[in-house]
Amino acid sequence: MATIYDIIIAGGGIAGLYAARELSKAKLKVLLVDQTSTLGSTAWTPAITLEKFSLPKEGINAPFNEVIFGTLKKEKKWVSNQNIGYVLDYKRMSTLVLEEAKINGCIVLTQSTVNSLIKKNEEIVGINTTKGDFYGKYFIDATGSAGVLVSEIGLRKKVPCHPSVGMEIEIYDPDQHLKKFQNAISVFFDKDLFACGYGWVSTNGNNKYKIGIGESEVSSFKKHPNLELRLEEFIKLLLNDKKIEILEKHGGSIYGGHNFKVNSIRHKNLLGIGDTIGSFNPFLGEGIRHALYSSDMAVESILKNIQKGEDLDSYEKKWKKYTDFHWKLTSFINIALYEKNTQITQNFYNELIKIMDYLDVDDIIQIGQEYKIEVLLKKFPQNMNVIYALLRARFFNFG
Ligand SMILES: Cc1cc2nc3c(=O)[nH]c(=O)nc-3n(C[C@H](O)[C@H](O)[C@H](O)COP(=O)(O)OP(=O)(O)OC[C@H]3O[C@@H](n4cnc5c(N)ncnc54)[C@H](O)[C@@H]3O)c2cc1C
Repeated sequence: MATIYDIIIAGGGIAGLYAARELSKAKLKVLLVDQTSTLGSTAWTPAITLEKFSLPKEGINAPFNEVIFGTLKKEKKWVSNQNIGYVLDYKRMSTLVLEEAKINGCIVLTQSTVNSLIKKNEEIVGINTTKGDFYGKYFIDATGSAGVLVSEIGLRKKVPCHPSVGMEIEIYDPDQHLKKFQNAISVFFDKDLFACGYGWVSTNGNNKYKIGIGESEVSSFKKHPNLELRLEEFIKLLLNDKKIEILEKHGGSIYGGHNFKVNSIRHKNLLGIGDTIGSFNPFLGEGIRHALYSSDMAVESILKNIQKGEDLDSYEKKWKKYTDFHWKLTSFINIALYEKNTQITQNFYNELIKIMDYLDVDDIIQIGQEYKIEVLLKKFPQNMNVIYALLRARFFNFG
């Protein structure tokens, strides 16, 4: 007779791995299925992510305690006396969490693609994969943007919205041309170079850095078709044409943000987590922390359902609360800054950097970690121009 798993998890990104580790720690019989065998590159996340989700410190490449915001002409740096966040070696981090899940007894099937759900009398009883059929009691879809199972059941469309796209290089800089970024992550705005998005530079530890561009595809691609050329231009400007060693170049697209519509994040015993349910927030390009939060909420609801018979509805309720007021504020900014920004001028960005002068490092952490955008209103009368430009971009420009 076929094994009946307590939980079957489709997708072994950070959301699926975390759920696998936690659920198998609770002595449940867990199967994790992923189509690849290796995962991830590098990524930043706030310091709280590691503590909250007990992620192994060996997955850190570099801590950072400085944040820089700027245009290509003027920038401002905020320095904290403690670590604000970490740049992770995402591949190493994923491998470490996977090992922890395996130690807890989780069965892992790599290089196996999940095709579809198996139903019996309208109940979900298993999944079909390229390595055969597997049966279980609860199912988690953690297949990221693909959302294979949640889209099959109709919780969202297969391809729900336009993706954001990003391209990044990792460099080795032994001559320390980029020394000012060695403890920092930074975000740059420029009307021409990063239309509908931003550029970034971040430390990657030991004289290594990441330089990238990300933007929302919606209107920018018509005007600025070549992301790669603009990334090269950005690198040239940062390095004053000096040569550096490029270690890696990678890119990707991701679905998320305000136009990612999910009808529900759960159907009966199937729960969607992470990018599957659009947990990526384009505001500062953060997906890892939010994917982990959704995973943690799903784990908690499943455990309470098993142990106390509590309704699985609690999962959806918790996620709605998490993505409430401040999350919605970021959607407002995301639309104005990255999607409908054709009326935003370079002067707007100059003004934005100017008003950020009023902010101290705690304000920056509040905006970055808690999305308390209202902090920008600290000097309300002086900031009227910027607020007016944001409102105009958000509500009056539909180009
Ligand atoms: C270029 C780029 C840079 C980024 N930088 C950052 C950053 O610095 N900080 C940050 O917080 N976030 C960043 N993000 C976002 C972040 O990487 C994601 O939000 C996060 O990884 C989502 O995790 P997840 O587990 O939900 O999904 P994913 O990591 O996408 O995992 C999904 C998993 O499902 C598997 N899968 C898919 N379909 C199937 C199938 N049919 N069968 C079996 N397996 C399947 C995939 O192989 C994958 O392993 C970045 C994203 C991109 C594209």
